[in-house]
Amino acid sequence: MSPTYDAIIVGAGIMGCSTAFQLAKRGLKVALVEKRTIGEGPTGRSSAIIRQHYSNELTARMALYSLRVFQNFEERVGGECGFRQTGFVVMVEAKDRAGLEANMALQRRVGIQTELLQPEALREIMPGVEAADLVAVAYEPESGYADPYLTVTAYAQAARRFGATLLQNTEVTGIRFRHDRVVGVETTEGRLDAPQVLNCAGAWGARVAMMAGVEVPINSCRVQVAFFRRPPDHETPHPVVADFINATYFRSETGNLTLVGLVDPAEADAVVDPDNYNEGTDFDFILDVGERLVRRYPAMERSDSAGGYASLYAITPDWHAIVDEVPANSGFFICSGFSGHGFKLGPAVGVMVADMLTGESDPEFDPHLFRLRRFAEDDPVRGQYEYSIVG
Ligand SMILES: Cc1cc2nc3c(=O)[nH]c(=O)nc-3n(C[C@H](O)[C@H](O)[C@H](O)COP(=O)(O)OP(=O)(O)OC[C@H]3O[C@@H](n4cnc5c(N)ncnc54)[C@H](O)[C@@H]3O)c2cc1C
Repeated sequence: MSPTYDAIIVGAGIMGCSTAFQLAKRGLKVALVEKRTIGEGPTGRSSAIIRQHYSNELTARMALYSLRVFQNFEERVGGECGFRQTGFVVMVEAKDRAGLEANMALQRRVGIQTELLQPEALREIMPGVEAADLVAVAYEPESGYADPYLTVTAYAQAARRFGATLLQNTEVTGIRFRHDRVVGVETTEGRLDAPQVLNCAGAWGARVAMMAGVEVPINSCRVQVAFFRRPPDHETPHPVVADFINATYFRSETGNLTLVGLVDPAEADAVVDPDNYNEGTDFDFILDVGERLVRRYPAMERSDSAGGYASLYAITPDWHAIVDEVPANSGFFICSGFSGHGFKLGPAVGVMVADMLTGESDPEFDPHLFRLRRFAEDDPVRGQYEYSIVG
């Protein structure tokens, strides 16, 4: 007889691990199935920036809820997440000023701390920053970044403490149905039974959905980050920066490094096979983001390149996730497609999805915004900016 669970989760990135923790805590018998090892996928390579700047109330509330978890991780989850409160600044040009202020008003309504900064005040929190071209800067003092590998492994361990079974190096190869209801999965290690299966396969989300005959618009896209070693007179960690003018984001990293990536809608065009792509950084990318970084932070002209890597975003057409039961009442759920900004939402997503699977009548977060049907209904999630990752 195959092992029987209340729920099987496919994929042990932040979404799978956070949801496994929430379900196991509620007393469900959970199997978390990962084809590689925990934290080896895109979650472990995340820049893990934890900011609250969003264009819609649901994601802003989820970001705030999650921030409180990252701030009190040991008590709320157990173990370490490596949260560093460095503050976060968003810099925009004139055309985005109204959008920035609308987002800040929304943030304040839901209880997020954010303030408009004048260039002099920005220079105080970030000595050496180039601020002459800035029209508007929003500052979130409570934001920062975490350690994604520590976070995801802590969630997995917490799920295990509540009785979840972790199956690593085990690939789900099929979803099993009887009539129109899920009854389990096929894996490389044999069959597992459960009346609910949750697809948390991230950049592999469309492939796993196809195993259930469901088509979802999630592309697996290669994205890169580069590291630069800060010069000795700039070793103090700086805030996290989202610089829309130079289309970059950057944050401090241990070892006096600054990590830099792009904020560029064109990243959605770099569609790759998630099992076979170049995980190194392109020389041209390092040169390009290095130049953009120097424009905003001139001291970095004296920095050394310290390499980088490539990983995957799971991108949907509106850069927001799909969290839904598809088909309805089938027991097959999807929670994938977080489009490059899901890490910070992970703690809240676990609660949202656990509420869905347990049929909670008064859920903390209503997943309606993330329904699959929104694409067919031409009702995508809309943000204030063309930089869709900022949502
Ligand atoms: C370079 C980079 C920088 C980022 N920066 C930020 C940031 O600063 N802030 C932020 O909030 N977000 C950021 N993100 C996005 C964030 O990391 C992701 O949204 C989030 O980690 C996605 O988690 P996930 O659990 O959905 O998917 P994943 O981490 O992709 O996990 C999916 C897992 O499913 C497994 N899997 C796939 N198929 C199968 C199968 N058939 N059987 C079993 N297992 C399977 C995979 O091996 C993988 O481990 C960044 C992402 C990247 C790549």
